[in-house]
Amino acid sequence: MEVYRDLAGLRAALSEARAGGRDVALVPTMGALHAGHIALVEAARRPGTLVVASIFVNPKQFGANEDLSRYPRKEVSDIAMLTDAGCDLLWLPPVEQMYPAGFATNVSVSGVSEGWDGAARPGHFDGVATVVAKLFNQVRPTRAYFGEKDFQQLAVIRRMVADLDFDIEITGVPTQREDDGLALSSRNVYLLPEERQKAVALPRALGVAARAVLAGTDPAKALADATATLTAAGFTVDYVALVDAETLQSDPTPGQRRQLLAAARLGNTRLIDNLAVDPL
Ligand code: AMP
Repeated sequence: MEVYRDLAGLRAALSEARAGGRDVALVPTMGALHAGHIALVEAARRPGTLVVASIFVNPKQFGANEDLSRYPRKEVSDIAMLTDAGCDLLWLPPVEQMYPAGFATNVSVSGVSEGWDGAARPGHFDGVATVVAKLFNQVRPTRAYFGEKDFQQLAVIRRMVADLDFDIEITGVPTQREDDGLALSSRNVYLLPEERQKAVALPRALGVAARAVLAGTDPAKALADATATLTAAGFTVDYVALVDAETLQSDPTPGQRRQLLAAARLGNTRLIDNLAVDPL
């Protein structure tokens, strides 16, 4: 796997690949890779495709009191994992390359960015949209892969791609989970052993709520029950919501696919998860 840390080198390598007839697929990440990220790389791999992963811990998507300085960084093992997964090229831009002095542009997607994590983390999705727009212009992929784990992020990216005419096919990859159901996340390393045991209550509560809603329970009651279960398990709940899977508006219109979204904190660690309610 080739590793690039400067934009000119990256662009030269990509031009050469394109001239050789290869398609370019992009997997953006913040590193501290796990099997969830690797599932994106595997989804991106196809004959004739150059798979590019990026690792960039994007300061613009962290709030002032969030975990930017302690976010896990594992470059050596990340490179080994990507190489094993058959990734062709790694883009590792330094922060000064992404945001040089004088950088003044912000990409803001209204609507889908506004509720849920957008409300809990002001500015977060502007940071995500801005960096992903830059990555798209730097790498110019024909396809890009994002995890359904970050369900609202995926909706924000899809909206941005449609609105700004990026000629890029976006694929959402199903959430990869531990054996007990906890969604894989780079932030799971923050969990103390007893918190890790409690964390499984999050996917379980979503499963119970999804089954209840499908069985006809009033959604408001199912959401209140999930919140109570999580609180009893030691979580501080930011939100548990039933939304339209496309618009992310609550009170989905009948006939539209519905998704449960949740964010809750265990000690200093904030976990998010989501689950489709309606069978495909
Ligand atoms: P991150 O490094 O956390 O910014 O994530 C990079 C990409 O990997 C995003 O598109 C995430 O949605 C995706 N991702 C993270 N965790 C998982 C998971 N457990 N399953 C599938 N995709 C994931």
